[in-house]
Amino acid sequence: KIAIFWYRRDLRLHDNAGLYHALRSGLPVLPLFIFDTHILNKLGNKSDKRVTFIHTTMESLKEELKKHGADVLVKYGAPEKMWEEVLSAYNVTEVYANHDYEPYATERDTTIKTLLHNNQIPFKTYKDQVVFEKTEILNGQNAPYTVFTPYSRAWREKCNTFFLSSYPTVQYLGKLAKTDELPFPSLKSMGFEHSGSTFPSENVPDQLLKKYEEQRNYPALKGTSRLGIHLRFGTVSIRELARRAFENSNTWLNELIWRDFYHQILWNFPHVGNGKAFRADYDRIRWRNNEHEFKCWCEGKTGYPLVDAGMHELNETGFMHNRVRMVTASFLSKHLLIDWRWGEAYFAEKLLDYDLAANNGGWQWAAGSGTDAAPYFRIFNPAAQASKFDPRGEYIKQWVPELNSMNYPEPIVDHKMARERCLKAYKEALNKE
Ligand code: FAD
Repeated sequence: KIAIFWYRRDLRLHDNAGLYHALRSGLPVLPLFIFDTHILNKLGNKSDKRVTFIHTTMESLKEELKKHGADVLVKYGAPEKMWEEVLSAYNVTEVYANHDYEPYATERDTTIKTLLHNNQIPFKTYKDQVVFEKTEILNGQNAPYTVFTPYSRAWREKCNTFFLSSYPTVQYLGKLAKTDELPFPSLKSMGFEHSGSTFPSENVPDQLLKKYEEQRNYPALKGTSRLGIHLRFGTVSIRELARRAFENSNTWLNELIWRDFYHQILWNFPHVGNGKAFRADYDRIRWRNNEHEFKCWCEGKTGYPLVDAGMHELNETGFMHNRVRMVTASFLSKHLLIDWRWGEAYFAEKLLDYDLAANNGGWQWAAGSGTDAAPYFRIFNPAAQASKFDPRGEYIKQWVPELNSMNYPEPIVDHKMARERCLKAYKEALNKE
């Protein structure tokens, strides 16, 4: 008889809620990970950096587990089918996992829960990915917050050492099921290849966090943590990071609270994850959706240096600085009047740290259709943003070396005209005077 701990976006041994509870169950624990074909089959790029990251992470987890005479069962296929295989190969009596809030994940978990229940196996799940989840933080009317500032105030009031203490998982690793080495699918066998990329480190110095407030808005400085991908796949623990934020940087703590905020938005208002604007009236905007202009934006050929630099950084590295994400997203939705969902999908394909809740939140913020939106009439001026946040043009020079050559394109749209066109389209849709 064994318990299974099902890894999803919590790919670590230390401070892992679900794994901790599994190890305390009294049963030997077999960790499981499924390379999910429902997700992988949608990826057009067969050297997707995220797939390489997951594969490499699973390899290191396997090495760690082997030190304890244990291993991780790694499968490749559709979860419902893989689970049937697992149940026929092992005598599973309990299953543990951590909560996963995206619409697809919720649906998947419902299917698996039913399958397990039909076999009299309990499916026990825990909060792990965020500090506060779902409806843990509600306003005076017992409803979810839809504006960040009061949410963050309530978050800070509620937060204490209880919520931030780590699960001492590592102490119980002796409870893992002892097993001979299990098969491990290669990237090639799944139709993928190694992206050849290196990934940001999960170790962030205190010094960076201490200087975060001062440096975070300048894309030329490496002033942010670059932990996005680690938070996405759970190779770091949010509790540990929040404790470090409390010690080192209030502003950085705020970013981690934004993350919780958007996760609870996605959970409580799942329509945002299903292609709908948070505010329904924004779905009346008549987008121009010019495909040629969209292509110029994707390729960083808009003739606006900061926008182009951001898109080059994204295309080449899978990262884009937050300030530049705001500028490029605003440019697409407001200057070009292209449906923000096109941009959202492009970022989803490229970002190492792609996360549905945060990406959707960021895009709806930029388009003005979201929760805590800047008023629709506030339209970023990309040139002004560049002189303020990249005053010496260092970031731009790094990513748009062709800037001063004949090959650099003219602006694809005039700023003043685009601003007025956008105001008109938004006013029409929102019935503003
Ligand atoms: P840091 O500045 O060091 O922040 C630490 C962590 O806090 C981040 O790794 C992230 O997990 C979280 N965080 C920071 N800012 C936000 C925010 N505004 N909303 C939610 N979480 C935040 N973030 C993603 O994690 N995934 C996305 O897919 C994503 N898409 C975005 C799209 C747009 C249009 C915009 C404007 C923002 C998006 N963000 C997204 C938020 C933010 O830009 C990134 O989290 C940040 O740039 C990642 O860099 P970092 O790891 O160095 O973050």
